[in-house]
Amino acid sequence: MVDYIDAAHLKDVRNAMMTCTYCGFCKSVCPVYEGIGWDSSVARGRIILAYGLLNKDIPADHSVVENIYQCTTCKDCERRCPSGIEVVEIVERARRDLVANDLMLPKHRKVVESTLENGNPYGEKIGVATTLKVKKHPAPLGYFVGCTSTYRNRSIADATLSILTKLDEDFTVVDEACCGSVLQRIGSDEEEVEEIMELNIRSAEDLGVEEVVFSCAGCYRMFKEEYPKFVDVPFKVRHISEFLAEKDIKFKPLDKMITYHDPCHLGRHSGVYDAPRKLLSKIPESRFEEMKHNREAALCCGGGGGVRSAYPDLAGKVAARRVDEAAFADVLVTSCPFCVSNLRVGKEKNSSPVEIKDLMELIEPLVEG
Ligand code: SF4
Ligand code: SF4
Repeated sequence: MVDYIDAAHLKDVRNAMMTCTYCGFCKSVCPVYEGIGWDSSVARGRIILAYGLLNKDIPADHSVVENIYQCTTCKDCERRCPSGIEVVEIVERARRDLVANDLMLPKHRKVVESTLENGNPYGEKIGVATTLKVKKHPAPLGYFVGCTSTYRNRSIADATLSILTKLDEDFTVVDEACCGSVLQRIGSDEEEVEEIMELNIRSAEDLGVEEVVFSCAGCYRMFKEEYPKFVDVPFKVRHISEFLAEKDIKFKPLDKMITYHDPCHLGRHSGVYDAPRKLLSKIPESRFEEMKHNREAALCCGGGGGVRSAYPDLAGKVAARRVDEAAFADVLVTSCPFCVSNLRVGKEKNSSPVEIKDLMELIEPLVEG
């Protein structure tokens, strides 16, 4: 028997939920709705469910929990919403209420347990610096590698380390733990997330860094947008594409048609659109064309918000639609290891010939040392 829950976190967004006019504009963009087709799987449906939980009109049964957790938190609906509703905030508050009422999804529970125990969601026991064989030392520049680049898409970490070395930067990696993005997205206890934030800030501070760069869009968004809500961030924070776009880098030519996928965390959540394109524009002999949906209107890759770990089939279907849009290109480039992984699943589903690469993987062999 599923109970009605105490929805303490949703109380503060009651008015926001009441401003939904049910116009349905959000239906035209939601990547999840497109695959499922039920109103409960789009922003207005999720808002109705959250409102029902808050008022104890509906119990938190399996279908309610599923619909709250099938949002990728891509923020595209907010772009289209004429009422300006912060849908992602409502969804994430609903998740915090579900977790507080012991309704965390079993797959997410494993992720949280591993993050708290090992400092990463993948169950890996060896730290970032040791895994990457990089020495930590006091330096003005820090590179926050992120769990996915360290343990799952290692070539992105290696490419970034190589580029910074070729450019003679005095940089260090830090004693990092998972940035806390996954925990925050799936509704974990805020105090646990804040403890992780404090740990990461202390690790960077201990090495005296004045600036930290990120190759992961999710980690970058956390430090740029979320950390300052909870802790002091006493150093400059930039995505690696912003850092490199300002440098006078000489590239070898690349005779390929390139297109670019804006990660939701880097684009809609953090407003970084130009820097990756500026870097790509410097590659001699390459051609660049945008996909139909780009920049603020970019389609989501389908993997964010805990959807990939809990609903991998759904994440793969959304990724396949994104890869379809890039059919004209030789290379689909993005700036997030998580998007890379999920888009590669989409490529497999489509049997698409397009190469999927992180921006660092693409440019590393082209950077003249
Ligand atoms: S676009 Fe905004 S106001 Fe319209 S139905 Fe969706 S959430 Fe509600
Ligand atoms: S944030 Fe994205 S996945 Fe979630 S309801 Fe809005 S458009 Fe759909």
